[in-house]
Amino acid sequence: MMSQLTEKLKLTLDYDELTNCMRCGFCIPACPTYRETGLEAASPRGRIALMKAAVDGLMDPDEGKLRDQLNLCLGCRACEIACPSGVKYGHLLEQARDVLEEKVEYPWWIEKIRTLVFRYLFPSQRKLQLLGSLMAFYQRSGLAAAARKLGLLRFLPKQVRDMEAILPKATGKGVVEQLGTIIPAKGEKVATVALFRGCIMDVLFTETNKNTVRLLTEAGCEVIIPSDQNCCGALHAHSGQRNLAKELARKNVEVFYEAGVDYIVSNAGGCGAMLKEYDHLLKDEELGEKAKWFAERVKDISEILIDIAPLKIKGTMNRRVTYQDSCHLRNVMKVSSQPRKLLRQVDQLEYKELFEADRCCGSAGIYNIIQPEMSMSLLDHKMENVSKTKADVIVTANPGCLLQMKLGVHREGLSDQVETVHIVDLIAEAIELEKKMKEEGSGCGCEHHKKEDKSA
Ligand code: SF4
Ligand code: SF4
Repeated sequence: MMSQLTEKLKLTLDYDELTNCMRCGFCIPACPTYRETGLEAASPRGRIALMKAAVDGLMDPDEGKLRDQLNLCLGCRACEIACPSGVKYGHLLEQARDVLEEKVEYPWWIEKIRTLVFRYLFPSQRKLQLLGSLMAFYQRSGLAAAARKLGLLRFLPKQVRDMEAILPKATGKGVVEQLGTIIPAKGEKVATVALFRGCIMDVLFTETNKNTVRLLTEAGCEVIIPSDQNCCGALHAHSGQRNLAKELARKNVEVFYEAGVDYIVSNAGGCGAMLKEYDHLLKDEELGEKAKWFAERVKDISEILIDIAPLKIKGTMNRRVTYQDSCHLRNVMKVSSQPRKLLRQVDQLEYKELFEADRCCGSAGIYNIIQPEMSMSLLDHKMENVSKTKADVIVTANPGCLLQMKLGVHREGLSDQVETVHIVDLIAEAIELEKKMKEEGSGCGCEHHKKEDKSA
């Protein structure tokens, strides 16, 4: 007799998608977990075979092997890009995790934390901002320095300690509180865009959100920031909380639809990819058409600044930079050339392509906390490649990747030599430098301009 779990998997998993896999194995070399382990079960083909075996009743989904392999998967979706059959592995992964998650019985305190984080914290920007204020107080009041000095942090798990060391400056005031909800275009208006501000993004990377608005307005976009928007739900969907992800998606679709904009702009690859797939997430719902409208309009900031409203100011900066792709930006949003073009158009900036920039850095949402061994192993490979570029700036386009690369730099003891920056902040800084240079009628301070100044 079929177990309840098998029945549920059968009802939830897209069987056509499962059988679309012709087992050719083209996806295998693209998979980071396969490359690390060499195990078929830790490859996309292997995971699809496990899912199918469970659905066909050939394997007990409760026995753990399926769950273990799905947990080890980064969800980076590099396998989708390599697949000639166009198997939507990411959708299968989310569906399977959703079913398996329902059957997991966590200790009561973990259950409480999960409920608190998923249901109460992430869906409420007000609560996240309160958390941001508390973190800002901890960081700036001297408490953080005292805790480090007294060695109090040693009681925390190593991953949490490492994260604490690299956390950006938090704030309780997000982009709406600082800039308002409607920011006019500079010069002639090219488009009206809505900014997706993110949840954690708006508490830990508020400056990046503000710089995003700045670049968009410089490029001729009127920016609207609907204040009722909420978290995109990516963390929920990737953790088997698909119903909660749907709740969040419905609210976002309604709010942005009301705004009636030309584009919805994201500056975080992970969020952007989730937003871009709202049409799939809500396809069977009344809201389906609106979700389609929404998904069609989602763009990454670099797509806007290169393809739609080209940025007029190029900026200047004398640094050697390299770029790490965000997996979701590259593999789901299919955006990889635009960030590179943005970087290449900055004067004086030396761009070094990173070997295997398209490989996951091991961040993957909360993967670096729940699968620290695999995550750190991937990060170590990444840092070896970064060191070969001799870059003094690592640029990324997603907060998770940014923190992971920062962690890599911290672990290598290179924090004084190598900076990690979101692409938006780097371009904004380059523009600032160019403006300053023009105002002062001098060089940007780079060797090239110093020589010019001396000879003048
Ligand atoms: S999503 Fe990434 S880690 Fe998971 S199977 Fe595909 S390539 Fe491998
Ligand atoms: S490349 Fe696509 S069709 Fe081939 S094994 Fe991988 S998932 Fe299946």
